Amino acid sequence: MTTSHDYGAESFTAPHIALFPNAGMGHLMPYLRLATTLLGRRCRVTLITPSPTLTAAESAVTASFLLSYPEVSHHELRLIPDDDNTTSGNPYFLRFGRIARSIYLIRPLLSSVSPPLSAVVSDLLAASQAGPILADLGLPLYILWTSSAKLTALVDNLSSDPSRFNSSLSQVDFPANLGIPPLPIESVPPPFFSPDHILTHMLVTNARALHLAKGILINTFEGLEHETLKALNHSRIENGMPPLLAIGPLELCRMEPPKTTTPAQAGDYKRWLDCQPADSVVYVCFGSKDPIEVAQIQELGKGLMMSGVRFLWAVKSRELSDKADGVRELLGDSIGEDIVGRGRGMVVSEWVDQDEILGSPAVGGFVSHCGWNSVAEAAAAGVPVLAWPQNGDQGVNAHVVEESGLGIFPKNWGIGNGHRNGPVKGEEIGEKIRDFMKNEGLRARARRIGEAAEVAVGVGGSSHATLTGVLREMARRPPDAVTVTVSRILRYSIPVSA
Ligand code: UDP
Repeated sequence: MTTSHDYGAESFTAPHIALFPNAGMGHLMPYLRLATTLLGRRCRVTLITPSPTLTAAESAVTASFLLSYPEVSHHELRLIPDDDNTTSGNPYFLRFGRIARSIYLIRPLLSSVSPPLSAVVSDLLAASQAGPILADLGLPLYILWTSSAKLTALVDNLSSDPSRFNSSLSQVDFPANLGIPPLPIESVPPPFFSPDHILTHMLVTNARALHLAKGILINTFEGLEHETLKALNHSRIENGMPPLLAIGPLELCRMEPPKTTTPAQAGDYKRWLDCQPADSVVYVCFGSKDPIEVAQIQELGKGLMMSGVRFLWAVKSRELSDKADGVRELLGDSIGEDIVGRGRGMVVSEWVDQDEILGSPAVGGFVSHCGWNSVAEAAAAGVPVLAWPQNGDQGVNAHVVEESGLGIFPKNWGIGNGHRNGPVKGEEIGEKIRDFMKNEGLRARARRIGEAAEVAVGVGGSSHATLTGVLREMARRPPDAVTVTVSRILRYSIPVSA
């Protein structure tokens, strides 16, 4: 690999880093990847997970990860009991609040970890609670931001004046000096329009506490969000805010399939995929949750059938029963004999190994809800994305997909179920998927983004250099035993201390 970067060698002591993720697979996965990346840089890693977990998948994946990486120390932070007896509302938001209220319990855990820690990496929503504790312990706090850099621009806007967000506006404008294009109002997460919403309240409180952090690590890279990173870092550093540190794409975790998938089921779709021609399969997955209503799921099924394209669909729905024919029941008559696994398509209701699927030569496109992990994984694999955001930050991330050239974003499909009269029809979906899979120009652009990802994390690449800077800063804390030699980037690295 050739790069224009100028680097030499420098020795420093590898830091010991505690990682404390928030609830949900979308939060857990990037922390496990960060752990893998840090192990690759010879760091010592302690993983602290909230207990109990919100979903069975989190426990299963954590267990599988720890089995595969026994060098990672693990502690559980026992959450305080739910004191509000709230059973209604978004379970994720409620759990974020419970974790924040339990963070004071982390102090004895952090001070007893041996060898002593060099730094703690945690979620934005922990900043205001964890920041003062860590300052007291003399431990630097880094945030791992689990979405796009572009979303940080929106959250900065929100935290400076939440009343500016109004659903009757047509767009959100960013400060002119940033040069970031305005965001159509439909792409703004709906909770942002209510300052009293639990998520908005937590985001604003914690974003205002970000000065307590040394830096914000992001699973993104120059080839995906160059303009946004450049603009935001310029203004953040001027305003004394911690910099955005693009260190992605984070490494894949090499682990056994979690116990939510039986080996037989895992084997089925992998065997099927192995038999398909290159770039012929569209992979469809809307993340770890269940964002799509049944009527839309059935139209999507019809669309996949009408597209004439081979497909692998990892379907998730709370309406999906455990029965042997649960998938058939959910899909109704939208998909016929093609589900059998010998035909043109395959529908899997279990947890799939998305990394492996995206890395398969057979996969030529990804219909995605644009959860940030999925976008970053598609970018790393160089697989084009047909963006179909459903909620939360996904609308913002879908713009990143489009602006970077990684994929297409049919905006007339709306975001989620709220913006249209009824579901997007199968005919329209089928036609779009057919055109998407035939788009060789798009495939070539996505491939180039995958190549840029590889360069970014290679020695001398932008993400590698940025992480080196972070590790060097962290290593100023009490030493761990291992001393490593790392590359020292003399130019193009982002300053770490604000
Ligand atoms: N994922 C997976 N198998 C599945 C569903 C999801 O491996 O069957 C992984 C996916 O690769 C990603 C994460 O779960 O790393 C989902 O995160 P994302 O941010 O894309 O979406 P969310 O689930 O948070 O909406």
